[in-house]
Amino acid sequence: MGSVITWLGGQKQPCYYIGFPEKLAAMSNTIVDAFAFCRLGEQRDGVTPVTGFARLAAEAAKPEGEIRWSFDGGRHPRGYPQLSMAVEGEVSLICQRCLLPFSYAFATQSLLLLASDEADADATEQTVDDESVDVIVGSAALDLLQLVEDEALLAIPLSPRHPQCPDGQAVPAPEKPDSPFAVLHNLKK
Ligand SMILES: [Zn+2]
Repeated sequence: MGSVITWLGGQKQPCYYIGFPEKLAAMSNTIVDAFAFCRLGEQRDGVTPVTGFARLAAEAAKPEGEIRWSFDGGRHPRGYPQLSMAVEGEVSLICQRCLLPFSYAFATQSLLLLASDEADADATEQTVDDESVDVIVGSAALDLLQLVEDEALLAIPLSPRHPQCPDGQAVPAPEKPDSPFAVLHNLKK
């Protein structure tokens, strides 16, 4: 266990914890009080197998791969509680070109601002007016893994394809015969 450094200057400033205080360790590691998490500048990270996410696993071609994730609580320059979320991993998907499964890798970073309810979320979105941040309704029992799963599902392309199919030559469908014009053009050379 590391020592706990608390900030005595008031709640506006973040406290930095080195190691986990007992009280936090006793709580669920992935269901957090979102506002306290941000106020205290807490952090969580972990690795969860794809099979640990029901909706993501349903999209996967094979029950393999893992998702690495981290959250940092803090405060937006404009005063809103903010969660920095990083999600990366690999999911087995079916290539829509050659129909073989392949490991699709992705990495995303998001900045989530916390609002107290839907109306507050709308107001915050308008005030901040920044496409690069998302506003979510925070709660005293925010499921971080649900955010991770949502993010992973968004990262999966609708029509996944190998960057280069291993047997691209053997797939007849995308290969078009030379057009008569191209043949003619070559003959003229
Ligand atoms: Zn392919």
